Amino acid sequence: PVDRLPEIQEARLRLPILAEEQVIMEAVREKECVVLCGETGSGKTTQVPQFLYEAGYASSGGIIGVTEPRRVAAISMSHRVATEMNLPSGVVSYQIRYEGNVTENTKIKFMTDGVLLKEIQKDFLLQKYSVVIIDEAHERSVYTDILIGLLSRIVPLRNKKGLPMKLIIMSATLRVEDFTENKRLFRTPPPVIKVEARQFAVTVHFNKRTPVDNYTGEAFRKICKIHRMLPPGGILVFLTGQAEVHSVCRRLRKAFPYRPHREKCAVFSTQSQSLSQSLPRINLDSYSALPVDEGDEDRQAGIDDNDNEGSDLELGDHPDKEKADPSIPLYVLPLYSLLAPEQQAKVFSPPPTGARLCVVATNVAETSLTIPGIKYVVDCGRVKKRFYDRVTGVSSFKVTWISQASANQRAGRAGRTEPGHCYRLYSSAVFGDFSLFSEAEITRRPVDDLVLQMKDLNIEKVVNFPFPTPPSSEVLISAEQLLISLGALEEPPRRGRLGEMERARLSCPITPLGRAMAAFPVAPRYAKMLALGRQQGCMPYIITIVAAMTVREIFEDYDRPAGSEEENTKMAGKKARCVQMRRLWAGQGQSVQLGDLMVLLGAVGACEFAGCTHQFCEENGLRYKAMLEIRRLRGQLTNAVNAVCSDAGVYVDNKMAPPTASQVLCLRQIVLAGLGDHIARRVQAEELLDPKWRNGYKTPLLDDPVFIHPSSALHKTLPEFVVYQEIMETTKMYMRGVCAVQAE
Ligand code: ADP
Ligand code: MG
Repeated sequence: PVDRLPEIQEARLRLPILAEEQVIMEAVREKECVVLCGETGSGKTTQVPQFLYEAGYASSGGIIGVTEPRRVAAISMSHRVATEMNLPSGVVSYQIRYEGNVTENTKIKFMTDGVLLKEIQKDFLLQKYSVVIIDEAHERSVYTDILIGLLSRIVPLRNKKGLPMKLIIMSATLRVEDFTENKRLFRTPPPVIKVEARQFAVTVHFNKRTPVDNYTGEAFRKICKIHRMLPPGGILVFLTGQAEVHSVCRRLRKAFPYRPHREKCAVFSTQSQSLSQSLPRINLDSYSALPVDEGDEDRQAGIDDNDNEGSDLELGDHPDKEKADPSIPLYVLPLYSLLAPEQQAKVFSPPPTGARLCVVATNVAETSLTIPGIKYVVDCGRVKKRFYDRVTGVSSFKVTWISQASANQRAGRAGRTEPGHCYRLYSSAVFGDFSLFSEAEITRRPVDDLVLQMKDLNIEKVVNFPFPTPPSSEVLISAEQLLISLGALEEPPRRGRLGEMERARLSCPITPLGRAMAAFPVAPRYAKMLALGRQQGCMPYIITIVAAMTVREIFEDYDRPAGSEEENTKMAGKKARCVQMRRLWAGQGQSVQLGDLMVLLGAVGACEFAGCTHQFCEENGLRYKAMLEIRRLRGQLTNAVNAVCSDAGVYVDNKMAPPTASQVLCLRQIVLAGLGDHIARRVQAEELLDPKWRNGYKTPLLDDPVFIHPSSALHKTLPEFVVYQEIMETTKMYMRGVCAVQAE
């Protein structure tokens, strides 16, 4: 029996999924696998684990497992469910890559999908679990797809062995045919239960015209209008990236300043009433913040009533000319995945009295988190995605149009508590050209890590795996090729006709080295480096370099536009300090040849030496959250190395001395072993066909040269041969994570 607080119980009863509890639980009892579809906010994530718990799925030894594609969701949902059930975190727990609070008493476990995949490697039958819920399956993350493929085999096996197990796949959209109508996955299609969400009507307003690039300016103007003209209710804005989020937040805070101590201000303003009375009164009812040339097609919401009075307000794209209006405070919060967790959590608390909530978010707010009290959604219609060129391996981040399904998800966020409005900053014609659904992630990225994990599960013929959406055989072949060259898979026999060789290449068995590599929670290239790290006492350095290379964005970005002169000067100062520190770190270990990797090593070393404090990071241009992640990953990799090789005896040293010259040489060889196919040679004088090629590098796969970024430690040295972590296309094709190699 669960002892819930009355107010929790009341809130639960309002969730649409509560009405379906019996239907869901009956289907779960009768079938091995059930698919559950319901709008975001209908209660799937928070309630289904509770239904299962109350039906006894966690009372006879097994536990309830829930996977999430995002860490934020795993953590916040475990907290929420624990609160709702009035149970401690040792019972309703979470586990993500680096951390968790799972205990022996854990009954409901939220985890990222990668964590469950690792557990399958240890125990293929997942005997700990009586039921596994795959949440947010519509996101089609790679691990989710693989888990569904694996569980489609595990669940029948368990039932055959008399250890019954259930699988529940939950999706926020109705597009589940890839799971239900895929005969290789489930021979008999699983039942699909639809939860009718009590979603309030959301009126969608399209723009007449679609801004070509200044959609942040457009978003800002729209928010101003909503805030000035429309009744209370939170605003949720979808933009594409962190920089945009910050810039819009800054402009909004300036336009509608919110002061935390408004009570004092109020007292002050009554004293100076005579002054405010002498100011002309503005009739808010006939007030338009903007010239009306850009209008919505649908004018019902009333914010587009023509009125030219506002045109002199100059709410254009000149931040300095925006007039502050503290009389209608806006409580502005950013939300994106790299944001510190305590900042992220702010969106769940009600805004201060008298202020309207405005959350400026990236795609994270689309489905995994339900922000309370949202009545207005502003959707720029775009998303930033990583693109990866299969042939050349070049990565780039591009802003592209979202799918119609995503647009509808975003709009739906406005109708959770009462009827709402969604303002799309694009025309209905543009919407009509959007693809219907977003494509599965597995078709957009390399799969070497997955192939290695599968081989380690003794799935030799990866082509035959029941993928919900199979990757192309081209991608599978190049993954196997890379794994063969890293020594993780056995070389295929060289004889045979071409077709046979192709097939043979797709079923190479794993080597002992490959098994060791699969035990490390990093991509195969980095796993290879760890496997070689024992030479000359290099292991602690390699662990640190690998940890730093696999954590995103360790340096603060000081190049983003600042609001004021003062801020700009401050940023420039910080940037100068950061550049100086990087130079210092690069020079440690007597050799600059390790290049950007030495900078990483030096930065982590210095930060840990100082106790990994917020202050140290702030002063030296390091991102605190990234440094904490590196710290956890170092611990985890150290444990993994000791587990794979019991006599390694490595430990996390927070007072690590810089590597000696011979260690630097060794480190460079180890790095080369992992990045052997990422080698580039400086463009030779006779190859200089174009002056733009000066200081460029040639790689085997690209016709055009690539470059060393000005922020790289090797930008001035320009060694003849280098290896790089990846090529990122921004204004030019730049190599990231560059290290010099010896020409031999
Ligand atoms: P779904 O998984 O179907 O999208 P959820 O189970 O995540 O739905 O959410 C159900 C309800 O619980 C939502 O209305 C949401 O506002 C509420 N909720 C979720 N997390 C929290 C939280 N941390 N604080 C308050 N309410 C929450
Ligand atoms: Mg959910």
